[in-house]
Amino acid sequence: MSLSPPMRSIQPMAENWLDERDKAILETIYYCENCNMVLEPGDSDIDQHKKELPHHKMRKVFIVRCGRCGNTVTDSHAQYSPEINQFWCKTCLAETGVQNFHAT
Ligand SMILES: [Zn+2]
Ligand SMILES: [Zn+2]
Repeated sequence: MSLSPPMRSIQPMAENWLDERDKAILETIYYCENCNMVLEPGDSDIDQHKKELPHHKMRKVFIVRCGRCGNTVTDSHAQYSPEINQFWCKTCLAETGVQNFHAT
């Protein structure tokens, strides 16, 4: 009787870059469009929103570090390139062009 080899978790390549992308995210915060303010995890405002203000429009915001200039920006001001596995801020994208950004 032979034992079957231990199960290995085989991850499809396509999903790998998503993991890498998650690692590039420094912090996740929330932004309430109704209050027009940023809510940080652990903030009592978040609980208040969950319990009392569920109609408020909350948005998840990722804080990322630009791989080129090192500035921290929100994900709406940055783009991720799976090719170089980095977020770049819009300033850097504008300076170097999207073609360089996606170059391997
Ligand atoms: Zn709100
Ligand atoms: Zn930058």
